[in-house]
Amino acid sequence: MSTYFISQLHDGQQWHSRCLLDVDASGLIERLHSQVDDSAIPGDAVPLQTLIPGLPNLHSHAFQRAMAGRAEQRASDGGSFWSWREQMYRIAHTITPEQMEIIATQLYLELRQSGYTRVCEFHYLHHDRDGQPYEPVTTMAEALIRASTNAGIELTLLPVLYSYSGFGQRPLTEEQRRFGMSTAEYLAYLETLEPLTASAGCQIGIALHSLRAVSTAQINEVLAHTPADWPVHIHISEQMQEVRDCQQSTGLRPVELLLEEVEVCERWCLVHATHLSNTELEALAQRSVTVALCPTTEANLGDGLFPMLDFINHGGRYGIGSDSQICRSASEELRWLEYGQRLIHQRRCLISSSERPSTGENLWLSASLDKQAVTAGHSGRLDVGQPATFVELQSRHASMIQTADQHLFDGLVFSADPAAIHSVTIAGQRQTRQQIERQLNAHRSLLEKAFQQGYIAGQ
Ligand SMILES: [Zn+2]
Repeated sequence: MSTYFISQLHDGQQWHSRCLLDVDASGLIERLHSQVDDSAIPGDAVPLQTLIPGLPNLHSHAFQRAMAGRAEQRASDGGSFWSWREQMYRIAHTITPEQMEIIATQLYLELRQSGYTRVCEFHYLHHDRDGQPYEPVTTMAEALIRASTNAGIELTLLPVLYSYSGFGQRPLTEEQRRFGMSTAEYLAYLETLEPLTASAGCQIGIALHSLRAVSTAQINEVLAHTPADWPVHIHISEQMQEVRDCQQSTGLRPVELLLEEVEVCERWCLVHATHLSNTELEALAQRSVTVALCPTTEANLGDGLFPMLDFINHGGRYGIGSDSQICRSASEELRWLEYGQRLIHQRRCLISSSERPSTGENLWLSASLDKQAVTAGHSGRLDVGQPATFVELQSRHASMIQTADQHLFDGLVFSADPAAIHSVTIAGQRQTRQQIERQLNAHRSLLEKAFQQGYIAGQ
């Protein structure tokens, strides 16, 4: 058991000060008292400064960490989502399971360092480079599980069903050969993978690549054969071309089509959902669906801006994801979520409320709370019986020094140096920023070797 004495702590609902926190051997909070007297503090209690809940990263493709910063040169079409995708496919063609583990370990350490405590990995790079299944078929997924263990971050593994190259069930292209599975192959794959995730202490869920790549009949078949409490994630309405193609093929917009043909509820996480009509937006909010916003990736790919204020006004739920890994900072992701809205509306402090007037606090807590159904594991509450999973801020760090207590989240999200995060504890396992930095440095030679092996061929 570990005991901590904490100057101040936000439990997901409110601030407490002078807290004594006991963590049991399984990483759960056993006792949490606030306003304790000096005489009640045990001599071996570890002193911590300011604790806040950690964040789940709702959307990640780990292998894309290898191309961050390598796709910023003008392409033959001048540069679009689709020419970026060509470059991404070139990496996807060549990466091996060994390289996947190395690159994902690097990524997951970086995510942990910035305050993410769980990653939802949207995993579609299933097969060998020639498109044949690995032996065992879960080889690539196991590399991701090992990477999460190496980094000590919690993992919700979301194996992806990917069957077609476009609306109207067009066959997969040669470039998509590593992704493809039929519904039957996918269900068999989940059955093989589920015990592996359970024994590694990870969670599992369902991912459907997009309505371009999966039919609604397939979705209903997968849902009928899998547990009713597994999270379900899908890319949707990211690009206007996707919306137009869907309308041309089915007469409906992507979210309209999904809501019309599939029972969509709280365990659904819609990734991007950038281009929504008012009716779609209201329906998603009503069904307590979570939208995973990835502001730096959406900006980097030129996707567009999500109608955030309308969605919030309808009570919509949202979280954030690092997606293409162009940015691995949770604070920066949240900051750009707000800044996108400020630039559109020419006003300030928009993603805040009368209950939570601090924009930084509102952003951070909204991205953390109510994520159990879409992650199968993130609690977001610091309370007895919950996992001891939290971020420690160094409120006396130089970049935070002028920040009054009620502005701590604002300081973190809008202004602080990354080093203001002093440590990150996940299920009772505490690592300081310096320890993670040392692990990243030790990992660097493996990373350099992986790059020398040329898995970014074609760049
Ligand atoms: Zn994605």
